[in-house]
Amino acid sequence: MRKLTDYQWEIEKIEELKRLENKPKLLMQSCCAVCNSWPLEYLYSIFDITIYYNNSNIYPQTEYDLRLGELRDYVSKFNDFHQVDIKIIEEPYDYDAYKSTFLEKRSFDKEGSNRCGMCYALRINQAFKYASEHKFDYMTTVMTISRQKNSDKINNIARRLSKAYPHVNYFYSNFKKNRGIDFAVYTAKSLGIYQQEYCGCEFSIHKKDFDV
Ligand code: SF4
Repeated sequence: MRKLTDYQWEIEKIEELKRLENKPKLLMQSCCAVCNSWPLEYLYSIFDITIYYNNSNIYPQTEYDLRLGELRDYVSKFNDFHQVDIKIIEEPYDYDAYKSTFLEKRSFDKEGSNRCGMCYALRINQAFKYASEHKFDYMTTVMTISRQKNSDKINNIARRLSKAYPHVNYFYSNFKKNRGIDFAVYTAKSLGIYQQEYCGCEFSIHKKDFDV
């Protein structure tokens, strides 16, 4: 059997999905408006998309509110422009619980190491659970667009977690490709969307050049 990279899989899958009569339902796990801009543009004509915002990793709450507010504004403009009705599911925010049950134990990990892998896994798993309970056909995450995040690592984590959710397909992605990053940067600048300078948790705040 031919072995495909995740990006080749993504391209072939899109061509296959374009031929379907009805759009499959996709839950798109999201971290912010900028990272969501290209995945929405790229996939809205192929999938019936719902955005899933589950980011209790973000500190402090003012930052969380800012990122979520920007996402709501962006999606509202996107809906008006494209005449679609994409909704955002917002999970409750609880950084204290996220920190005490997980982050604190990994506070000495370097960014991009185990702590971050586990952080992706927690949020991806929650998205799979929601997608499974609400009968979505596919789940994906916009996190693969980040220059600071390894797309293969994210896809491998999702691939492993997907085994527990046999009725939900994981849509492998590398949203960096296809000039996805250029689109996100251009969109952020032209619409004046807030661009954070750190990933999310308090342990990432010192890295001022961190790009989610
Ligand atoms: S740096 Fe980002 S991905 Fe890593 S643990 Fe903190 S919030 Fe999660």
